[in-house]
Amino acid sequence: MILILLGAPGAGKGTQAQRLMNEHGLVQLSTGDMLREAVANKTEYGIKAKAAMDAGELVTDEIVVNIIADRIGHDDCKNGFILDGFPRNVPQAEALDAMLSEKGLKLDHVVLMTVDEEELTKRIIGRFTCSSCNEGYHDEFKRPAVDNVCDKCGGTDFTRRKDDNIETVQARFETYRSQTEPLLPYYESKGVLSKVNGMSAIEEVAGEIKAVLGV
Ligand code: AMP
Repeated sequence: MILILLGAPGAGKGTQAQRLMNEHGLVQLSTGDMLREAVANKTEYGIKAKAAMDAGELVTDEIVVNIIADRIGHDDCKNGFILDGFPRNVPQAEALDAMLSEKGLKLDHVVLMTVDEEELTKRIIGRFTCSSCNEGYHDEFKRPAVDNVCDKCGGTDFTRRKDDNIETVQARFETYRSQTEPLLPYYESKGVLSKVNGMSAIEEVAGEIKAVLGV
């Protein structure tokens, strides 16, 4: 199955993608994660992408399209994958269509997770992750049982994303509205778009997504 999770920053795409990955063996392809890794490793793409990421803008289509084209050719994508954070604009969606048709693959579903901006801001500003196992936490909604100790792996080092600050979040919302929202009519006209209420609890959203996917 090939699935795109769409939604504004903080809508819960990564959380739901990880659940689907664990329960259904689909691979999560997050361009944001791949780019953050490239930045951390100071690769050529990472060096080029960093300024746009810090400003809450999109990195060039060339970079992300190349990253995805390379990644979906890997063996672990054979049974399907979940695109999380890609495509982010219409040219990327067109590039994806071309890549898939070249490989004889078909996009099955695009699921839009809707959440209002006030809630998105609260979710983003408080979030942090365990540096060792990547488990996600939140200052208000999900603190570790013991302060500064990861529930999952016992790690004691945590990180916050550099772009999860109030100024950059506003820029990221604006980028979403102007560049990513035009994907809604694009996929609606192809008959693959479904909407779920991303304001609900994680379990409920997961249930709605499963219903759409029929899994
Ligand atoms: P995310 O983790 O999906 O919120 O992405 C973090 C940042 O990475 C974004 O604000 C963009 O700067 C960059 N990024 C991620 N995916 C894309 C994409 N498909 N196209 C362009 N930039 C992207």
